[in-house]
Amino acid sequence: MLSQDFINNRKQELEKIKAELEEQLSSIVKIDRQSTEYDAKFPDFGDKEDENAAEVAAYQNNLSLEEDLKFSLSRINKSLQTIKDKTYGVCEKCGEEIQPKRLEAFPQASACMECKQKIW
Ligand SMILES: [Zn+2]
Repeated sequence: MLSQDFINNRKQELEKIKAELEEQLSSIVKIDRQSTEYDAKFPDFGDKEDENAAEVAAYQNNLSLEEDLKFSLSRINKSLQTIKDKTYGVCEKCGEEIQPKRLEAFPQASACMECKQKIW
């Protein structure tokens, strides 16, 4: 069994990561809103062909970063939910407890080391 202290510490870490992710996400969304105001879907680096390519790349970069951030956030929220449900630290694949060391390194882990290795 994981101690309540251990879970509380992981919860604090998860909430810290969550706040950071939300901040990053809101800064990306802000960039998107600004660029539509200027009637351009892409960040404006200039009119030369090279610069346009860089704009497209930056825009696509923002999109995939946004997807990554949303995915990470959903994992964090899921872990926070398991803390509420008192099922935190239980592997979602085999139902065994996840090694505390793994949770210390990666508090949003939802599967134990063995199951993780099977997936990959
Ligand atoms: Zn497992």
